[in-house]
Amino acid sequence: MNLMSVASLRFYAELNDFLPEESRGKELTRYFSVGGSVKDFVESFGVPHTEVDLVLANGKPVDFSYPVRDGDRVSVYPVFESLDISSVTRVRPAPLRALRFLLDVHVGRLAAYLRMAGFDALYDNQASDAELASIVAREGRVLLTRDRYLLMRTAVDRGYWVRSTEPKQQLLEVVKRFDLAGSMRPFTRCLDCNTILEEASREAVWERLPPKIMDQNVFRVCPSCQRVYWEGSHRERMSKLLRWVKANAPAPPRGVKFVSGAGPGGSNR
Ligand SMILES: [Zn+2]
Repeated sequence: MNLMSVASLRFYAELNDFLPEESRGKELTRYFSVGGSVKDFVESFGVPHTEVDLVLANGKPVDFSYPVRDGDRVSVYPVFESLDISSVTRVRPAPLRALRFLLDVHVGRLAAYLRMAGFDALYDNQASDAELASIVAREGRVLLTRDRYLLMRTAVDRGYWVRSTEPKQQLLEVVKRFDLAGSMRPFTRCLDCNTILEEASREAVWERLPPKIMDQNVFRVCPSCQRVYWEGSHRERMSKLLRWVKANAPAPPRGVKFVSGAGPGGSNR
């Protein structure tokens, strides 16, 4: 005998981005004969677990390993930076103090922009999906990708699905999503290899400079790939982009406290 169970689920706010038009903002039902974890249940609708910050089953917070049961009503929330939900237990672990990113092959320009703003943005256009997942797990990086199925891998417990296809909008999205407007350190990181730059005197770098910028005094050099950086028209364009990002990504109101030890368990590990 094969008794079917049914559970209902509702996605909130931008989690609806993953759903087809007709399913957005609605209570969705799913029939099943064998119950799985709430992580699998949520992802069966196409929403990667990395986008989810809070899951309520019948009004109570649960972690990703929670087994979905007949009659359950599940509510799924994205990361709310500005909503105070500090009294309930989130499914996410506490945020990393210094965010470090990993980007896949389809968001290479975003990697360069993040480096320009001073963020640690590892970019590997050769890595397989399995390799990317293992770097995330090993180095505690946040995976930025346009591939939602990559974010469903259990080893990937931190990630973000980049909505826009336009690199400047992608940068704004990431700065807003991770509340980075106040922690930009422009022009401190090598655009080519992600290494922190060092200051250099003109004497130290003059052999590598084109003649027309010989009157500059402030230089930075990458200790890894030796690329030399100086002020110029290129840098002015980049500054303009960062000012635009800052103006459009105001810091959200404070009030969210993360509950320590509330990390995902069970099937998510
Ligand atoms: Zn470099």
